[in-house]
This record gives sequence, C-alpha cells and structure tokens, in this order.
Amino acid sequence: MNTEPLRKILELEHKKGYLDSAVIGGLDRFLRNWASQAVDSRANPQLLNHFHKLHLDNPNYVSLTKQERKQWVNSVVDFLAEADRMEREKGEAKPTPLPDRLPSQARRQTTVVNQSIDSSITIVKGISSSLAAKFYKLGVKTVRDLLYFFPRRHLDYSQRKSISQLTEGEEETIIANVWQAREIRLGGRRSTEAIVGDETGNVRVVWFNNPYLAKKLPTGTRVVLSGRVSLFSGRHVFESPEWELVEDRELIHTGRLVPLYPLTQGLRPRQVRKLMREVIDQWAWQLEDFLPAELKERCNLLELPQAITQAHYPEGEAVKAQARVRLAFDELFLLQLGVLSKKRDWQESQPGSPFNVETSALETFLKSLPFELTTAQQKVLKELLADLQKPQPMSRLLQGEVGSGKTVVATAALLLAAANGYQEAFMAPTEILAEQHFATICQLLSRVGHEEGEGYLRSYSGFLPRPLTVALLIGDISQVRKQELQQRILDGEIDIVIGTHAIIQKGVEFRRLGLAVVDEQHRFGVTQRSALRQKGFNPHVLVMTATPIPRTLALTLYGDLDLSVIDQLPPGRQAVKTKWLKPQQRESAYAFIRREIASGRQAFIICPLIEESEVIQARAAVAEYQRLSEEVFSDLRLGLLHGRMPAAEKDKVMRRFRSGELDILVSTPVVEVGIDVPNATVMLVESADRFGLSQLHQFRGRVGRGQEQSYCMLVAQNPSVVAKERLDIIEKTRDGFQLAEEDLRLRGPGEFFGTRQSGMPDLKMAKLSDVALLELARSEAIRLFEKDKGLEKPEHSLLAKELARVWPAEGGEWS
Ligand code: ADP
Ligand code: MG
Repeated sequence: MNTEPLRKILELEHKKGYLDSAVIGGLDRFLRNWASQAVDSRANPQLLNHFHKLHLDNPNYVSLTKQERKQWVNSVVDFLAEADRMEREKGEAKPTPLPDRLPSQARRQTTVVNQSIDSSITIVKGISSSLAAKFYKLGVKTVRDLLYFFPRRHLDYSQRKSISQLTEGEEETIIANVWQAREIRLGGRRSTEAIVGDETGNVRVVWFNNPYLAKKLPTGTRVVLSGRVSLFSGRHVFESPEWELVEDRELIHTGRLVPLYPLTQGLRPRQVRKLMREVIDQWAWQLEDFLPAELKERCNLLELPQAITQAHYPEGEAVKAQARVRLAFDELFLLQLGVLSKKRDWQESQPGSPFNVETSALETFLKSLPFELTTAQQKVLKELLADLQKPQPMSRLLQGEVGSGKTVVATAALLLAAANGYQEAFMAPTEILAEQHFATICQLLSRVGHEEGEGYLRSYSGFLPRPLTVALLIGDISQVRKQELQQRILDGEIDIVIGTHAIIQKGVEFRRLGLAVVDEQHRFGVTQRSALRQKGFNPHVLVMTATPIPRTLALTLYGDLDLSVIDQLPPGRQAVKTKWLKPQQRESAYAFIRREIASGRQAFIICPLIEESEVIQARAAVAEYQRLSEEVFSDLRLGLLHGRMPAAEKDKVMRRFRSGELDILVSTPVVEVGIDVPNATVMLVESADRFGLSQLHQFRGRVGRGQEQSYCMLVAQNPSVVAKERLDIIEKTRDGFQLAEEDLRLRGPGEFFGTRQSGMPDLKMAKLSDVALLELARSEAIRLFEKDKGLEKPEHSLLAKELARVWPAEGGEWS
C-alpha cells in the first residue's frame, strides 16, 4: 500500500484548517482514486477491514463538520502508520504457475469385517472411547446409528472452476498448486496465508486462526479448495475454505456435494467426514434390505445400501433426492405398518365391551340439555354409538374447534357406558383442565339427576337404577383420600373417574373399565394408547383434540384411530375480532379492557413468554401481575394463574374468575387456559409473535363463548418476517384446520407439536409435507397386511425383524 501521497495531502489539509482545500477537486475525489490503486488483495484482512470502516474507498469528507473532519483525518493518519508497519513485517513471494492435473476417483480399498452392524461404534477403526462418548451425545451408539447419522445438508462444491472464472460471493471449488504457504498474523491471531495458482492465474487464500495448516501445504502441493470467494479491493480471496490434498482417492471435503454433519463439542467436521466415508465404505453394503423386492420395483425405490451411501456422499443432486425418497419411504412405511398393526391388535386381540345403546338414560340426558345438538354433533354422536355397540373396542379421534361442543358429546358416551354397567375414565392433559371437565360434567349431570356430595366426589340419582358417582382424582388430594378413592374405584363403586393421564398410568385399577375418554393436547401418543390395553382391560377409547390436525399428521400420529370431526360451532357464536397490535398500542388495549370491564365483562391477559422454563415463567408472571395490579388496573380485581401454583390455589383463582369475583385473569402461556367463562370477552396475548397459529387460536378460543362480541388482541414486540405472516393469518382466518395447515407449513411438525411424541420411530428423512409419499407408504402397508397379515412369509422375514426393531415396545409380535 502506497501511503506516502495520502499522508502528505492530509498533513496539508490539517495545516489549512480542514477546509477541504488541500487538493484540487476535493479530498473525496482524490481518496477514491488513491484507494483504487493503494490496496492489493494480499493486504492483511484486518487492515482492509479498518480501511473499509474508515470508508476510504467511498469517503464523504465534504459533508463532515470541521470537528468531524479533524477526527477523521487523525484516524486515517493512524491507519496509514499501521499499514506501513504491517508492510514492513511482511515478505513477498513471486510464484510461477505449474501445470494442472485432475484427481483420480479411485475408492480406497475396504476391508471386510465380520461383525454385526448393531455392534457398538467402538469396533470402528479410529473411534476411541472418548470419541465414542461424543457420538453418544448425539444419540449415535451403534454402527447402524452411524450409517443413519445423516448430514444436515450438503454444500455443493461439485462444480470445479478455474481461478480466472471465480466469482465473488459464490461458493467455488478450484484445484490448484500451492506456491507458498506461511504463517502470518491476522488481527493478532496466528493464521495461514497461501498463494495458489492454476494455468489461469493465482489467488490468495487465508485460514484465520489456523497457523498449523502452513506446514501441511508445502510449495508444489496440489490442493482442492472449496469455499466462499470474497473480494478485497478488486482481488479475489478464499477465506478459510475447505481443503484437501489431491491424492489417489475420492474427495470428501471438497470438489463434490460435501456433507455437513450435526456436530457436538469436540467433533471436528473433517474428522467426522473422514470417519463417515470409511464407515460407509465398509458397512453400508452389509445392511440387509428389508423391503420386499417387488415393492421396491413397484415403487421405484433405490436399494438400501445405495440409498445410505448416496445420502451421505451423493454423486449428484438427482441421486441424492432418490436416496432421500427411499429412506423417507422406509420411515413412513414402518410407521404405517406399526400404527396399522396396533389398530388391528387393538381391535382383534381382545373382545371389547359392546354396549346396548337403546337406553332411556341417553335420551333423558339429551333432552335435559338447554340446547339442541348441532348437526355435526349429532353426526359424531351417531358414529360413536355405532362403534360402541360393536364387540371390537372403539378407537376414535374426535377433532373439533374449541367450543364446538365435544365435551357434551363425550359426556353422552360416558353416560351410555355407565348405563351399561361399566366404569369410565376421563383424562385431561393438566389438572386445571381435569377440574374444569369435572365441573362441566357435574353441571351437565345435575340437570338429569339429583346431586349429592361435594368437592371431588359427587353422585347423581334418579335416572339410572342406581346412583351414578363421579370422582376427580388429581395430585393435590391427601394420600388417605386418594387411597380411599382408589379402593372404591377398584370395588367398582365409582363410575366416572376424571383426572390427568396419571389415572391410567399408576396405581389406579378399575373393576370394569368400559370407556376411556382422552382430552388430549398431543401428549397422549400411540404408546400411551397401547398402555391402556396393557393394563389388562380393553376399553373403548375416544381421543379428543381441539387442535385440528392436518391429514398427513393425523395419518402418521393417529394412524391407529378412526377420525370424526365436529366441523360446526353451535349457533349464535360470534366471530372473535382479532387484531395484531404494536407495543405502543398497549395503552389503548388497556383502555379497551377497562371499557369492557365497565360494562360487566371479563378479560384474560396472557403474560409475555420469557422462557420455556416453568419456574422462570412463573416468576415473570408474578411480576407482570404485580405491575398490572399496581400500575395499570389498581382499581380492578385481578387474579393470577401459573403452573407453579399449588392446585388448590389454581382452583380457587379459577373459581373466582368463573363466578365473576375477578375482572382480569393474568395467566402464563404455559398454563392452558382451558376455562369456559362465557362472560369473558377480551383476550390479550403478550409476545404473540412467539406462538404458533394453533396455540394463538387456542387462546382466542377462550373468549367468544357467550353471546357478547369478543375480542382478541395480540401484542408483538419485534415480529420476524415469519411471525408477521402468522399474525396476519390469524387476524383473517377463523378456521382452525386452515390455521393448522398454515402452522405446519410455517413451522414444521416438530414445532407444531412442541414436544416429540414418545414411542414413535424417528422421522429423519421424511417430512410431513411428503403427502404423496405418505399416502403411498400407507397404501403399501395396507396391501402388505392384506397379503401377509402376520408377516410370516419368508420374503417378509427381514421386514418383520426391522419392524420389531423400530417399534421395540411390541417387538415380540414380529420377531
Ligand atoms: P369443546 O369441548 O369442544 O371445547 P364444549 O363441549 O365445552 O366444547 O362446549 C362449549 C360450550 O358450548 C359449552 O358452554 C357448551 O355448553 C356449549 N354447547 C355445546 N353444544 C352446544 C349446542 N349444540 N348449542 C349451544 N351450545 C352448545
Ligand atoms: Mg373443551
């Protein structure tokens, strides 16, 4: 860098008092001209960075104040001194080009090892126990796990360029000779700089923070470099590219589609790539292909070893896509075989309890309701009754919007089961919701029978030959009470038990369980449903969900269930007016809440989402509650609800809100506000940008349950582009199914469900947007079971083994 002319000009400018008079045409023009010549591509990046910070290539001296000019000139003088110092430290080298040669693609010889693919990864040469520990952290324990340890994505380094063809900003690959590589200091850190060349030119390469590389690249070495090309004052430079020597073997880091693996602390990308290449070469072909040959042919699927190999080190984009299809098909197919066989076992292995549906109790109940069932409710009730009178147990999923009247329909089924002399379990995802269901069901029953008892145990007489007893079984009752209840359930004295999932998971034995209703929020998976059966009874099961589930998901997660939908709200429901607010509009939202409360209504305020931790969330909720009750609504009656409160306290707050003793309920988002308070007309959700559409829709469903116009206000601090899209959608869309589809599209299935379903095989390759592939997998699964129900034919023995492996809970069935 020639600093001399600029230094002179700046000195003059200083002497003349910063009037931009040191050079004819102005300093800016001079600088632009100087800058274009002064900096070469081999300049120290830190220096260049500094250079750009000072805007030396694009200055605007003319518009600065005198004071600013003075400061700026001083910093440029400092910069020039620094540049000179660096220049002195640096030696120059003048490389000359060498001829080029392409790498051969010969694969390294593999040794055959006769060990099981399910052996620990420590049998792999090069995996020490400390390296194995790092893989364990990623869930990789066996050689098979390694083969299925897929890259997150691939970098496309497959297109080789010559140096003269390099384009700034692109990921490029070149093959070149090293002219010189040496250790240099960049930004005070020991780094490597190399000059490499091919027949079309030379280019500078720097590896920040990695001085050791210099020794690995002696002059004359041939290397492949893949990485981003940047531009420093008109010259190309590779910054920390991937590299490998051109040897007599296949490229793994450069010059191809290069896999990027999920890494954990202490696993280095190059190390993992090298290891994976060796493992695949050695083991992939030993994988047994469990798909029947005719299926593979019909569906046009790759062989398994080939698919595994191509998923890691694809020869091109097309075959990579084919590999994904094969592996995704495997996942979906095994999943469908699993859920379908569970459905079959469920329905065939044990007789269920056929109910007599012609009972007067059901009729009495329906007549007692203060409303007519909607057409959709009637249709679903009919579907339930048809199932319940069969000897095979029902396994049905009932989907319906919040407030569509699922609970009423479920209560009819409970009553029918009781009238047939059976016991019933009604399970909710949280204690609050269990309490709510208990209250709702008791209230519905009190219209048909004479109510006795109080608290957690009530009975209703006058419409069945004997009194119907209903109990709430949750964590916060005393041990003595609990044991007493459990005994009475075992003795068959209690008909309907309402509680969380715990009632089927521990300690509770029923005498004659005939029906289990699960009000579910995606927490009751296929395995839990199987657990019901393994408790030794085979009840009818009704799963209810208010989150509409897109068809692909329903087929995957609930493939073992029949589907019913209540697709209609009771008449007279008003659409909830939904509006997305900026934080500055919060005050007017508060004023609005105040007006609604003045006219007798109530409001929910969902606290800002701080973290997924309930403890932290609870603390934040307490603070928000205090702020609101002291600073904003000091004249109103506020209540607080969060997940860390004792159940009795939650119950008290909910009761007070429901009975109108509280005006505003402040709640954490963690607590599902599954409260039916028709008088509540306002829902204010803080940090609304952080929730999925389905969850916002759930919040919104808490209002608009009465006759009054209701409102949902969504406050978003700094929504991302995607969050803005979500907020726009929720403002305009009321249809829960449509929202669920959008949610799935915007956030993917993992987020959609929050937590992973337990007991389900992993989906690594399959996406829930693979609708066609999923339908194909399902129809192939059905076809297979039609042909060979028990997978007993010899051509299906590998498949049976694989199925037992991925669905271990019920492994015995196939192996
Ligand atoms: P869900 O369980 O689907 O959220 P609920 O069964 O709790 O819905 O019903 C919501 C509210 O609507 C309740 O207050 C219930 O009494 C009322 N409801 C249910 N069905 C009807 C109907 N057909 N007509 C009028 N109101 C109804
Ligand atoms: Mg409900």
